[in-house]
Amino acid sequence: MVRPDGSVLASLSWKPWVDAMITPIVYAIPVFLMLILIEALVGWRAGAGIYRVQDAVTSLSLGILSQIVAVFDKFFVIGIYVIVWKYFRFMSLPATSILVWISALLMYDFCYYWNHRLGHEVNVLWAAHVVHHSSEDYNLSTALRQTASGFLISWIFYMPLALLGFPPRVFVIAGLVDLLYQFWVHTELVPHVAWLDRVLVMPSNHRVHHGRNDWCLDRNYGGIFMFWDVLFGTYTPERPDDPVIYGTLTPLASYDPLWGNLKVYADIWRRLRLHDRFLDRLGVLFARPGWQSQLEAAKSPAPPAKIPMNRYDPPARADIKLYGMASLAFSTLLLVQFLLRVPQLALASQIGFGGLITFRLWALSRLWTGQKSALVMEMLATIVPLGFTALGLWFVPAGAGARLVAALALAMAIIVLPRLRGALPTTGEEQ
Ligand SMILES: [Zn+2]
Ligand SMILES: [Zn+2]
Repeated sequence: MVRPDGSVLASLSWKPWVDAMITPIVYAIPVFLMLILIEALVGWRAGAGIYRVQDAVTSLSLGILSQIVAVFDKFFVIGIYVIVWKYFRFMSLPATSILVWISALLMYDFCYYWNHRLGHEVNVLWAAHVVHHSSEDYNLSTALRQTASGFLISWIFYMPLALLGFPPRVFVIAGLVDLLYQFWVHTELVPHVAWLDRVLVMPSNHRVHHGRNDWCLDRNYGGIFMFWDVLFGTYTPERPDDPVIYGTLTPLASYDPLWGNLKVYADIWRRLRLHDRFLDRLGVLFARPGWQSQLEAAKSPAPPAKIPMNRYDPPARADIKLYGMASLAFSTLLLVQFLLRVPQLALASQIGFGGLITFRLWALSRLWTGQKSALVMEMLATIVPLGFTALGLWFVPAGAGARLVAALALAMAIIVLPRLRGALPTTGEEQ
């Protein structure tokens, strides 16, 4: 109902749904990390080499970044849905019926299929989705390599659910189930299961989706169900004779989580400025990734797409890798604190807190590649949260015990960090 102040948005009260979306993610984080650890240990014991530290840490950094942004994008993700459902729905479906829940999951996954498919077939949507495909490894950490900008357009694809009258609560939970389900399929440890492969999204058919071999491109888009792909002709099973090579044909070749999110947008921007013709600009935005205008083809025709010989893998010493994992663990703890406390923080504090975690992730990515400024940035990114907590000036008030722990951790960081100087490659160049 519209309140006396007439503010439609205020009356819609979509904030509870925001909290309902954040809490399960907070609980999922330790479960995900534990499963990643188990997969890494099993792979290590089997000598399978499933994980590379820097790649996995980058995947988790991108996951953290997407969760920070998710705190601020809920108007797109749920706010618009609530408005459309409240004012434009054709009918009302009860949240008490099991049939409504089952059909919501099916409908959600159907919309997800088209969102995901166009995410691969339309360049400006690919700019957001490419993040998920930018790892050249395939393991549970890859599942958390999520885009921070998908919210800008994705919401449009789920409007049919609002118009059909699925209540926001049902929509939010169906979305969470769809998202959480997809975690476990990102593994090489589960083999092909013939009788399920055409019905459900499984590790085998999703491995194909992450492949850059010719026969893997633009296949297997489902979220939970694979029968959409069977129905619309995009299903391809794994081939025992041709191992999947993971990643994209134009590799990201960077550990920077910000660049990982911006690279294709930057390329689109550059190409938009290059063209004067309206149709060419439309092509840059909406044609398939890899499309070239006549102008571009005349200037420098793109060579036939080829899988790169080697994965992106700059060398790093073991102590840098160890430090990187500790730094990521600290950022993860900060994320959990951020997500739990965000409802009580003013917007400026939310932005400051989220911005600081983002800065930490960026600093770490520069440390990986031995940039000269990385150590100073990393020190700053460690000293600020620990120092402020120790002084009781952090965004969230800390008890005496927590302040003591923060002070000790700070002292340790100040001792350890300068020692890493010698571990940085001397060839490290500023970017
Ligand atoms: Zn995809
Ligand atoms: Zn995936």
